[in-house]
Amino acid sequence: MSNYQKASFLLSVADVKQLPPDEGIEVAIVGRSNAGKSSTLNRMTQVKQLARVSKTPGRTQLINIFVLDEARRIADLPGYGYARAPLAAKQRWQKLVDTYLEHRECLRGLLLVMDIRHPLQPLDKQLLAFCEIYDLPVHVLLNKADKLSNLAISKTVKEVKAALTVYRNSVTFQIFSAAKGTGLKELHSLLNGWYEFK
Ligand code: GDP
Repeated sequence: MSNYQKASFLLSVADVKQLPPDEGIEVAIVGRSNAGKSSTLNRMTQVKQLARVSKTPGRTQLINIFVLDEARRIADLPGYGYARAPLAAKQRWQKLVDTYLEHRECLRGLLLVMDIRHPLQPLDKQLLAFCEIYDLPVHVLLNKADKLSNLAISKTVKEVKAALTVYRNSVTFQIFSAAKGTGLKELHSLLNGWYEFK
């Protein structure tokens, strides 16, 4: 049985060496600032505290770890692409995330949150290319679907589908709305597979 509502905050780390032991199953969530990563965490688990932690000043550049049970965790990676962030902070983020993605054995897959109105920005593509190298499964959430008409959604879905065919690792996607809950069932069903919930 899945238990997303039991998610609770464990710790924030600035260095991969401070992470909990590399065992069990971890799913990471990442996205450009403002794409809706915190709202997605909130919707996924129905735990408001999670989104608050991931928004706490000083923690936005860290990896925040949430625990579902003794074997399963969510890793909230720092949001990227915040235009006004100093270069040094961007480079720190990049190094932390790259090291995490490259070395974390228990990492089962990455949820990549995008604003459906601006999908596949250069930094999203950079991240996808990186995941391809390490053969990491990625599930893209085209968030804020409530902001578009059905017609505009279909057009975007077609474009995104075509664009994602270039990657050789498993890259799936779905439409989502953290605000309205659209696509939540589909997301939970994907996560149930990754977390090996029966
Ligand atoms: P983060 O920076 O990626 O963590 O993004 P947030 O979760 O803080 O969301 C950024 C802004 O987008 C906030 O104003 C949210 O209320 C809004 N937002 C997030 N998800 C949705 C969505 O599905 N629909 C709409 N309309 N707004 C959303």
